[in-house]
Amino acid sequence: MALVEIKNLHKSFGSNHVLRGIDFTVEQGEVVCVIGPSGSGKSTLLRCVNLLEIPQEGQVIVRGEEITDPDCHLDAARQGIGMVFQQFNLFPHLSVLANCMVAQTTVLRRKASEAEQIARANLSRVGLDDKVTAYPAQLSGGQQQRVAIARALSMDPALMLFDEPTSALDPELVGDVLTVMRKLALDGMTMLVVTHEMAFAREVADRVVFMDGGVIVEQGPPAEVIGNPQQQRTQDFLRRVL
Ligand code: ADP
Ligand code: MG
Repeated sequence: MALVEIKNLHKSFGSNHVLRGIDFTVEQGEVVCVIGPSGSGKSTLLRCVNLLEIPQEGQVIVRGEEITDPDCHLDAARQGIGMVFQQFNLFPHLSVLANCMVAQTTVLRRKASEAEQIARANLSRVGLDDKVTAYPAQLSGGQQQRVAIARALSMDPALMLFDEPTSALDPELVGDVLTVMRKLALDGMTMLVVTHEMAFAREVADRVVFMDGGVIVEQGPPAEVIGNPQQQRTQDFLRRVL
């Protein structure tokens, strides 16, 4: 059974038909990178996977449960999905440690002691053992993004969604975040990653999906889609970004 299955997904904003029939799956343990021009619907697709956007047509099935079914218990389904955005969205008034604990205690109802232990372990995983008492404003963008990753991991997600996690970072800070993501992939985490980092996609992705104009134009192993694209639109896009 695929971890995520998307069938004939359509999403419009008013008259803007953004997703025009998307079909694809993410298997357990797979790393899928989504690439494509700005405005092609990549973020909208990612946001439909945890129903931050409600599609007009089609199905999103996560771990066998159709979350687009109005009867689905959405909160429970969402708990299995971690999301990391371009903007880190940390709570500025909470310490790094508290940022990684709050959803654990409120949503998962873990005891504070257990939540703290899990938060510390995940902060260690992203290389921030020494920053647990710091506040977001005291950290670099790359460190804040790693806190956001640790926070998502602390909820024990079965799937991690990343929407251009390094796009807001100064170039010298990008590497640390990609290193953490590479490590997660090696640990077997299932990941769906929208990214402009072609070197990362080429090295880490099991599969690359190229989107343009709200459809999947081409998908396959990175050596094929990035290394030897078959479609004109993919070739044109890669010529511009590589
Ligand atoms: P990408 O992530 O590939 O750059 P997006 O999914 O963000 O593309 O956007 C695709 C299209 O959907 C764009 O035309 C954008 O303006 C539109 N769009 C995205 N989110 C919204 C929204 N919340 N309301 C209205 N239009 C939106
Ligand atoms: Mg986007």
